[in-house]
Amino acid sequence: MPYLPCDLCGGTDARFLMACERLDGPLVRCRQCGLVYVGERREDFTFSRFDPERSRRLAERVRALELVDEEVEVREAPVREQVMAERLRWVQRFIASGRLLEIGCADGAFLKLAARAGFHAHGIEPDPVTSAVARQCSNIVVFPGTLADAPYPAASFDVIVLFHVLEHLDSPRRALHEIHRLLRPGGVIVIETPNIASLWFRLLGRRWRQFIPDHYYFFSPVTLTRLLEESRFRLLALTHPKRIVSLRLLSDRLRRLSIPAGRLLLRAITRMGWEERTVTLRLSDVLLAAAVKP
Ligand SMILES: [Zn+2]
Repeated sequence: MPYLPCDLCGGTDARFLMACERLDGPLVRCRQCGLVYVGERREDFTFSRFDPERSRRLAERVRALELVDEEVEVREAPVREQVMAERLRWVQRFIASGRLLEIGCADGAFLKLAARAGFHAHGIEPDPVTSAVARQCSNIVVFPGTLADAPYPAASFDVIVLFHVLEHLDSPRRALHEIHRLLRPGGVIVIETPNIASLWFRLLGRRWRQFIPDHYYFFSPVTLTRLLEESRFRLLALTHPKRIVSLRLLSDRLRRLSIPAGRLLLRAITRMGWEERTVTLRLSDVLLAAAVKP
């Protein structure tokens, strides 16, 4: 059976890479442009539209695969704020103020920071539960829906950001086309997304943490740059984001990979009372790009 066509080049000749139970279908690579993507959608958990029944099934899958440790997630909240602050600093390298749109803003944590720093902060979020939380915050404006339904006229924004959203979309190419329309000339797009060209994917294969049921696209520096350029953006910078993690999260991740040192480390840091301490890593398995609409 043929795979889905390539979103980047339109090619219809993709090569099978691997089956992974944590993905929604087989992982394939386009023979023409090298884009790695999920070549078949069994459930289709993409963010193309909101469907409560599908969200329920996704949550069920994630629970069954034991991908989320809720206790760890709750305790990591203070660290998440530092992650948001780091993202804001990156945006401010390219643009200091103006109208900012975050696509997939979830509960609005980043937008609140951006508003405090002087941006006019807008967000789009299709999930009605999280978008309702975001809409309760003063100083930010959230549209509860998808990019395709959003009501903004052309050239509405100075900067548009997508943090770990591109890989969830039905068509990244279509999204970038729409973002180009929504940015004013000279406006900036910022994207953070997993990096398939990382050593981590080569080392861990199907155990790589970026393989989850609602990830469909896995870009590399080459394919992300091509997507931006073909969407008529000029690349300003491409790097790996700094990642701030607590020692507790780090040892938990190691433990999940069944690396025995993780269990020992967790025991040691608990004894020392160091769970809340953070370290800054620059993991190559995430890409951070900024580009301008000329
Ligand atoms: Zn292709």
